[in-house]
Amino acid sequence: MAYKIAILPGDGIGPEIINQAEKLLQCLQQDFGFNMELESAAIGGAGYDAVGHPLPEASLVLCQQADAILLGSVGGPQYESLDRDLRPERGLLGLRASLELFSNLRPAMLYPQLVNASSLKPDIVSGLDIMIVRELTGGIYFGKPRGIRELENGEREGFNTLVYAEHEIERIARSAFDIAMLRNKKLCSVDKANVLEVSELWREVVVQVGNDYPEVELSHLYVDNAAMQLVRAPKQFDVIVTTNMFGDILSDTAAMLTGSIGMLPSASLDRDGKGMYEPIHGSAPDIAGKSIANPLAMLLSVAMMLRYSLGEPELANLIDTAVGNVLNQGFRTADIAEGGNTVSTVEMGDAVVAALRALVK
Ligand code: NAD
Repeated sequence: MAYKIAILPGDGIGPEIINQAEKLLQCLQQDFGFNMELESAAIGGAGYDAVGHPLPEASLVLCQQADAILLGSVGGPQYESLDRDLRPERGLLGLRASLELFSNLRPAMLYPQLVNASSLKPDIVSGLDIMIVRELTGGIYFGKPRGIRELENGEREGFNTLVYAEHEIERIARSAFDIAMLRNKKLCSVDKANVLEVSELWREVVVQVGNDYPEVELSHLYVDNAAMQLVRAPKQFDVIVTTNMFGDILSDTAAMLTGSIGMLPSASLDRDGKGMYEPIHGSAPDIAGKSIANPLAMLLSVAMMLRYSLGEPELANLIDTAVGNVLNQGFRTADIAEGGNTVSTVEMGDAVVAALRALVK
């Protein structure tokens, strides 16, 4: 049976990097017996330009019917004056919410060839390989009531609500334990249980879920300590699970340990493991259309898709190996070049496809 993959190029560099992903998938189809059907649809600013909405109905239906979704990136300065509900980012948030993609996987992995790109000393970051599992559809970003109100004395007050129901904690914990089982079986849950009641419940539920995973070593850290540990000794972590806002901040910190935003993929999964896969970076309007964007985060997102949604870990490993080989051969886009020769987006995509083909010969 053919896997149905929805392709959402989006805006800015999105279409340029997603072309490279399609090329890679076609190579898997031709040379590795991977059976797939690709279908593209508009999202973000492209959706607004096409039909006046950042998440066109047809795109949502395509994603609902697909086995997995590949997204380039959304956003651009030309859309910033639109009403909030029509902005490109709304398309992405709408898709995550409609498909209940509550589990956001953000790996922070440092390729040994790029160790000098990190702002931390090589001995602290070399070999770094962390997976942050962030709750994506709940917590303070979605909790109600929220707003800005006027008090009796005329002063304004802003307010948001941090709320997690047990089932929301249970499902993200389970997702994180499952991922820990596929890796080194170490899970650190990050909360603020010394101050917040919601964190107290978080910790209790995570411990309960942990009873079903006796092989996984579970630890807990307060978020302030976790932030400190991430820059002090990041290699102590394997998998981290945390709430929406803590995860937002910690995953960006972890990503920056690797120094290269163009290298990091991500996944957002639902309860059944269906997911949307995208680079962690945005649409990079400053370099869009110049064919200098690094496509590797996009290509590594394809590898994550094969591993976490399509049950093809061997193919995923082959892509990871091909990317490593291309870096070994010295191919660099401008963002990771450290002054040497650079290749274009298309040349980098071609190099990975060639490296992949070389693995079957
Ligand atoms: P950005 O990630 O687009 O760019 C930050 C910097 O990193 C820029 O200098 C850019 O040129 C560089 N960069 C990013 N990706 C790169 C790549 N693959 N290769 C080489 N260099 C790369 O972040 P931003 O500038 O803050 O945001 C631009 C737009 O993207 C905004 O509209 C924002 O809302 C949107 N955005 C979208 C997503 C998403 O689609 N998931 C995520 C973040 C930001």
